[in-house]
Amino acid sequence: METIDCAIIGAGVVGLAIARRLALAGREVVILEAEDAFGTHTSARNSEVIHAGIYYATGSMKARLCVQGRKQLYQYCAEHNVNHQRIGKVIVACDETEIAGLKKYKAQAETNGVDDLRLLTQAELAEMEPAVRCVAGFLSPSTGIIDSHGLMLSYLGEAEDRGAMLALSSPVLSGKVGSDGIVLNVGVGGAEPMTVKCRTVIISAGLNAPAVARTIEGIPPSTIPPTYYAIGHYYTLATKAPFNRLIYPVARPDWLGVHVTIDLGGRVKFGPDFEWTDRVDYKFDERREASFYKAIRHYYPGLQDGTLNPGYTGIRPRITGPDEPVQDFTFHGPADHEVKGLVALYGIESPGLTSSLAIADHVAQLAGI
Ligand SMILES: Cc1cc2nc3c(=O)[nH]c(=O)nc-3n(C[C@H](O)[C@H](O)[C@H](O)COP(=O)(O)OP(=O)(O)OC[C@H]3O[C@@H](n4cnc5c(N)ncnc54)[C@H](O)[C@@H]3O)c2cc1C
Repeated sequence: METIDCAIIGAGVVGLAIARRLALAGREVVILEAEDAFGTHTSARNSEVIHAGIYYATGSMKARLCVQGRKQLYQYCAEHNVNHQRIGKVIVACDETEIAGLKKYKAQAETNGVDDLRLLTQAELAEMEPAVRCVAGFLSPSTGIIDSHGLMLSYLGEAEDRGAMLALSSPVLSGKVGSDGIVLNVGVGGAEPMTVKCRTVIISAGLNAPAVARTIEGIPPSTIPPTYYAIGHYYTLATKAPFNRLIYPVARPDWLGVHVTIDLGGRVKFGPDFEWTDRVDYKFDERREASFYKAIRHYYPGLQDGTLNPGYTGIRPRITGPDEPVQDFTFHGPADHEVKGLVALYGIESPGLTSSLAIADHVAQLAGI
């Protein structure tokens, strides 16, 4: 049987950040990825926003790792030439009833250590974002945009420079916790799976993380959270960007509302919306068009008929369901499941991309590395 020092299950942005972190610490790393390329799931289907850390609950892992990860990410991008832009974002109240929500954000942001938000006067808003209809707003100067594929390439390149290996088309099918390591059965296309014994295993399998954990005998089932999926659609704008920054309306309790992001090529995207689903199916449901026009015109009344094009979808990996409070990022180390050498990541939805470097540090600590 082959032996591996550290196996990382999943080559999304988080798995690759962890691979880089462990490889830099001098560990031998193999990344096991089910697909035939890295980063084809949630890491390729998100808003590519570097979040400031405004919304997340006080003391949550999301708040802590987003604020810390955002600082690390800007520094990393500058040092490694990853394409990004500190474009800034404006959060707007479209009528008087939304102003209370806006004030709550400012207070929450300050509690989270985001201390650069600036309230804008209506005159400033009109000058900065003339296309946006609103009565109040504030600027988040440290919100940015990033080339997520470029980031993943950079993480992978650094990990490989330190000897890490990416094994594509290598789904982890099952496993077993033993006294001297964790055995994984990996599908490599042949009749029989390949069996490898690992000293450290990191489950970073995104939407599939609880399912992967359930196939590994010896992880107490009671510690594995349930799986829920929530799909979000993005429409793109056919015309030139009428905005200079990202525009976010006041959010709903469990998602951020149909907001405006601009990619590094200057293309405007609206979304994502939010709907529970029971499967990983990225098919675009074009029946959403009318609801997008309505939501967008709330703050951008100049939106012309016929200018929205279907873009793409992404699916949020949730571990709490409808009518339950929104989960935090969840990390289970040996203290949680009593399996030596195992760290499992669950529910790594937004702001997982922003937080990736901070998550990698946290996981390394849980793994005792
Ligand atoms: C709609 C949407 C918008 C978002 N916008 C933002 C944003 O603007 N900013 C931000 O910071 N965050 C954002 N996020 C969150 C961010 O995209 C994710 O947190 C991040 O991409 C998660 O990365 P990951 O590596 O955990 O998961 P993934 O990218 O899903 O990677 C998991 C990998 O595991 C592999 N895998 C699964 N099962 C197995 C198996 N059995 N064996 C081997 N490999 C396996 C998969 O093939 C996949 O490649 C958004 C998320 C969504 C859904």
